[in-house]
Amino acid sequence: MKILIVEDEQHIADGLRFNLEADGYDAEIAHEGETALEMLDSSTYDAIVLDVMLPGIDGFTVAKTLREKKDFTPILMLTARSRPEDVLKGFEAGTDDYLPKPFDLEIFVARLKGLLRRQEWSRERSGSSQRASTFELNGKTIDFDNLELISGDGVIQLTLMEMKLLRFLIENEGQTVSRKTILEDVWNLQEDTDTRAIDNFIVRLRKYLEDDPANPKFVRTVRGVGYKFVTE
Ligand code: CA
Repeated sequence: MKILIVEDEQHIADGLRFNLEADGYDAEIAHEGETALEMLDSSTYDAIVLDVMLPGIDGFTVAKTLREKKDFTPILMLTARSRPEDVLKGFEAGTDDYLPKPFDLEIFVARLKGLLRRQEWSRERSGSSQRASTFELNGKTIDFDNLELISGDGVIQLTLMEMKLLRFLIENEGQTVSRKTILEDVWNLQEDTDTRAIDNFIVRLRKYLEDDPANPKFVRTVRGVGYKFVTE
């Protein structure tokens, strides 16, 4: 397994690499966003550890650029603790998980391992292995484990956070869920975050699922409250 560490602070980058190598991973370091994108163009990595604040282009831009290029290498974003809006911005850019700085190095390695075993994400909340691994909707198959939406038109790769939200909506079918509940239960964000950030995710889910995203049948808005998933 080869990991790319994108971090401009040398001592942090070295510490991360040291811990990954001690765990048997190969690790390479990029100190700038541009360098990271070049390395990702010329080589394949199993995961990316991505700091937000970088000289030149920032971590959000790196993530967005990759996803636009259909590169879905899992991304663990490193954020400043005090900024939940960074976390949401990171999810929107296509990152899969985040770790607030400063963090414990053992937790870092554990989170990265979790990201590398993507299929385990679906069991993390309930601890149950009996949850469905697929869901059929509108002629499409949602494959929770592989983060894929399969239809006659092809396969769309969802980010981990998109899939977490979609699964949450499906599991609460017929019930209205508030934006605050989504922030807390799906993304573990307790602080006062701008809950409208969720709306961008909903727009994307509708684009994936609905025949007419402007007039959604499945992912409905409950005005002033939140959203409701219905199948009929
Ligand atoms: Ca930095």
